[in-house]
Amino acid sequence: MTRSIAARAQAALDHLDAATADPHFAYPARPDEAAAAQLRLANLLGIPTEQVTVTSDGLRRHYQSGEPVLLTVSDPADDHHPETTYRFIIAAPFYDDDPIYLLDACPECGADVPVWTITRITDLAPAKRRDLPADLTADDTLPYDPGHRDTCVYGPMGG
Ligand SMILES: [Zn+2]
Repeated sequence: MTRSIAARAQAALDHLDAATADPHFAYPARPDEAAAAQLRLANLLGIPTEQVTVTSDGLRRHYQSGEPVLLTVSDPADDHHPETTYRFIIAAPFYDDDPIYLLDACPECGADVPVWTITRITDLAPAKRRDLPADLTADDTLPYDPGHRDTCVYGPMGG
């Protein structure tokens, strides 16, 4: 049975309220921001909220309000695609339009860094991810990511 929009909207609000009231939810990220980011990604992917695990992103901490969040989604195998774990980050989850980045192997050092900007589900299509984005260093997100190994040319100390 398909649930109504009203029922899904109320369930999302109830989840947001419950998470906001829980000081341990995604600590030390702000629970309201973390829960909103979790809902945002679940809606983008069209999956249940509980399938998205949200934690504070310990590597990319801001040490101030508005902690980055790490969102992890395990995707089961199907007839055409192997089991996959997707890891996304949102640097400033306070903002509903802050970019969602998919972590992937750095072309230089192989570490998990924000390679792909995910705006809609089509951005995750294998056909769109065969080649690295041409504008990989168009903004500061990839070059300044602390996920790079120390010697990486893309990393903060590299180049
Ligand atoms: Zn790197």
